[in-house]
Amino acid sequence: MAAATEPPKISSSPPENPENHQSVSAVLHRTLKSAPPQVLSANGKYVSFSDGSRILDTTCGAGVACIGYNDKRVREAMINQIDKFSYCNSMFFGHPIGEQLATELIHGTDGVMSKAYIMCSGSEAMEAAMKMARQYYMEVSPPQPQRVNFIAREGSYHGTTLGSLSMSGHVARRSLFTDMLLSNIGRVSACNAYRGMVEGQTVEEYVQQLADELDRKFQQMGPDTVCAFVAEPVVGATLGCVPAVPGYFKAMGEVCRKYGALLILDEVMSGMGRCGTLHVWQQEDVQPDIQTIAKGLGGGYASIAGMLINHRIADALKGGTGTFSHGHTYQGHPIACAAALEVQRIIRTENLVTNVRKTGHQLGALLHEYLDPHPQVGNVRGKGLFWGIEFVADKATKEPFPRSANIANLIHVKGMKLGISLYPGVGTMDGILGDHILLAPAYTSTPKEIKEISLKVKEVVYKTFEELPFITTS
Ligand code: PMP
Repeated sequence: MAAATEPPKISSSPPENPENHQSVSAVLHRTLKSAPPQVLSANGKYVSFSDGSRILDTTCGAGVACIGYNDKRVREAMINQIDKFSYCNSMFFGHPIGEQLATELIHGTDGVMSKAYIMCSGSEAMEAAMKMARQYYMEVSPPQPQRVNFIAREGSYHGTTLGSLSMSGHVARRSLFTDMLLSNIGRVSACNAYRGMVEGQTVEEYVQQLADELDRKFQQMGPDTVCAFVAEPVVGATLGCVPAVPGYFKAMGEVCRKYGALLILDEVMSGMGRCGTLHVWQQEDVQPDIQTIAKGLGGGYASIAGMLINHRIADALKGGTGTFSHGHTYQGHPIACAAALEVQRIIRTENLVTNVRKTGHQLGALLHEYLDPHPQVGNVRGKGLFWGIEFVADKATKEPFPRSANIANLIHVKGMKLGISLYPGVGTMDGILGDHILLAPAYTSTPKEIKEISLKVKEVVYKTFEELPFITTS
């Protein structure tokens, strides 16, 4: 007789506590070889980890937590919204909190933009921007269905989904997927004074060179086949906080106008106050047709991003099909809108963008003072509270470090040990891979904190290179 099989035992013990087993992770992290430190709490500008360490978050995560963590006012706004309704199918219905947020956003563009479309991530916003540009030319009278191309820049980052990655000039992130990316995207040089300008060249000459290059690209692709030129006003993650030289965006806007194409500005990282005005284009003599925003929009309290369109685009759609042929289940999420509306209210009422300008000047001046003399610091650049430091093996020739040296990452690791976060990256410009770190402190930073951050960055950079045996720092 067969023995009765015992029912499987159900364990009542909880699964392993991931806080105690950092090498074991069920989460698919960026690397599968080890698990990163676990964040247990974050308050104000500080983040605490499971190993007991705590850092001053000098990058706001990925340039996101602009008003700091655990703000009770934002929490209350989100809870109030949950108490009313926690979700709404925004493809069919509107809601007051979405209206209020869109009104706030449009108001912040001095009337340049007409409508706001709310989504969950920067990549989604860039996908929407591409489709909106295409739809505009299908709806405009007479339609221009031949416009299917885009022109983007080298050393750019516009997102990780296939459309937005296709526009990105981020070599490392594209490499595995090159053969399946969109083929309708032409590429021109980034505007990067440090790597792009030749000796003796004036800013005006450099701008003209880049405008001529864009003009040639339009001609090469077919002048009336291009929907839009796409650019980050300050290049974020790929090159490490590289602002354009004065006059660049005005010149690029003129080339777009010459060919009847749109200008799409990706302000996902650089916008919403980060660079000292609500939008970076407000410091340039240019206005975008379509703009994307994300990180500082919700300050990290919810996953939220937006696309703003100007009157030209909105009017064309209104006079055409009357609908944007797009849609996400979570678009216009009411809790995310409530969070972003409160974050934006705080930024506005506490004059935080003015504070970004003031403390940004201080941060820039201190970083130049402390780091320009270092033999391995090639370039310190930035705008507002968005600064990058590029490292070189040879200051005179601007030769980058070999990839194997992993410099940016070593500096990031040293920063974590010394209590600050530094966002590492390796940008590609004309085939040159340059290590950089990026700083993006909270908009609420005080002069005292900016001094502390600058001194800490100096300490991290000097100590990292002192400990590298193969580099002479004398
Ligand atoms: N555009 C820019 C300029 C970005 O910096 C990023 C993200 N770093 C994106 C788009 C993509 O945003 P997300 O990661 O939210 O999809």
